[in-house]
Amino acid sequence: MNTNPAKLQLQRRKFLKGFSLALGTTALGVPLISLTSCQSANTSNEQAQANQQPDPNKKMGIALVGLGQYSANQLAPALQETENCYLAGIVTGTPTKADEWKAKYNIPDKNIYNYDNFDTIADNPDIDIVYVVLPNSMHAEYTIRAARAKKHVICEKPMATSVEDAQRMLDACRENGVQLAIGYRLHYEPFNRRVMELGQQQEFGKVVSIQSENSKDVTSGNLDIWRLDKELAGGGPLMDMGIYSVQGACYTVGKAPVAVTALFGEVTKPTYFYEVEQSISWAMEFDDGLIAECKSSYADDNDFLKGKAEKGWWTLEPAFGYDGKEGETSEGKIDLPNIYEQVQQMDGQARSFRNNEPSIVPGEMGARDIRILMAIYESARNGGKRITI
Ligand code: NAD
Repeated sequence: MNTNPAKLQLQRRKFLKGFSLALGTTALGVPLISLTSCQSANTSNEQAQANQQPDPNKKMGIALVGLGQYSANQLAPALQETENCYLAGIVTGTPTKADEWKAKYNIPDKNIYNYDNFDTIADNPDIDIVYVVLPNSMHAEYTIRAARAKKHVICEKPMATSVEDAQRMLDACRENGVQLAIGYRLHYEPFNRRVMELGQQQEFGKVVSIQSENSKDVTSGNLDIWRLDKELAGGGPLMDMGIYSVQGACYTVGKAPVAVTALFGEVTKPTYFYEVEQSISWAMEFDDGLIAECKSSYADDNDFLKGKAEKGWWTLEPAFGYDGKEGETSEGKIDLPNIYEQVQQMDGQARSFRNNEPSIVPGEMGARDIRILMAIYESARNGGKRITI
């Protein structure tokens, strides 16, 4: 695996030109909207279509809300390479960060907001899209405020920390005629799209089992992080990392589970995990009897998505991190490039907003996943009780 960041960046750049033309259509043969559980996915999009005329040449202005590590290290650099959108503005509560970002990215003062004056973004024609990159429990408030300011919204995963908040976000976007998409970058990424194709198009026959884990050991790091705070994170590794396995299982088969069962793991590091779970294992049961077995932990390092079908198998490992994806099927290595996922994601989302086309990662998909996550927690709290969704 190539882990040299400079080389990876170069590879990404080389690949981008060719790939950007293909994605957002049916690159790799994957249907744009394939998740049957997202049948209602277009409700807010249709409303947006009714209210706006697309300008096919417009490069859309994005304002990032929350300038933490994901914005600073992934999204802002990606926005220097996007073709359909650019970094037009920032929203931050830290004046020194505003100064740094202003100098680094040449952002005009009129496009710099704090959390108090954020709502005046409604009057700023430079900003078309607000991208919410805050701690999880803050997603709802800023998505709703952005929608009321009549801006399209990209909201980071997990969309919300409750089913009720997710619904309020959908309602606000629908009522204000704007689109809402979730920062699910892997829907724009070749290896995971290949898995969607293998599973949904049954290239090796019907899928008979799925296994996935996404775990990251945080126990050598800072204790004072919002990810360990239940109020801000909504939960532990399931909300942050396990959501990728939930997504992975759903997009492997193109549908949502009908029931889940789950168990919390043992807490071996109580100095870290006294509010949120240290680890959790769960099974997702689909309508045809297929079971996806999944795990997520904050005290371990694993990252894979595996599927077995009647006549073959596949595995992505790593499957979910930003770089270095590798994959294999029963027929050999999956020979696809690693790309700059956030460039593809934001370009794809900006294109769908601009053209009033349905998103491939709509808010409704995010809300579906919050329902699944909450059912997993309900099962774990009840000692593994089967919870129907
Ligand atoms: P971070 O801690 O690095 O950044 C959080 C930002 O929110 C900081 O700028 C902080 O100042 C700001 N903030 C405002 N109010 C705050 C409060 N009350 N407490 C703490 N911070 C506050 O976090 P991050 O890793 O950038 O994650 C932000 C969001 O992005 C999360 O929802 C996370 O799940 C998501 N994320 C997604 C991906 C992905 O691959 N899609 C990757 C990383 C993070």
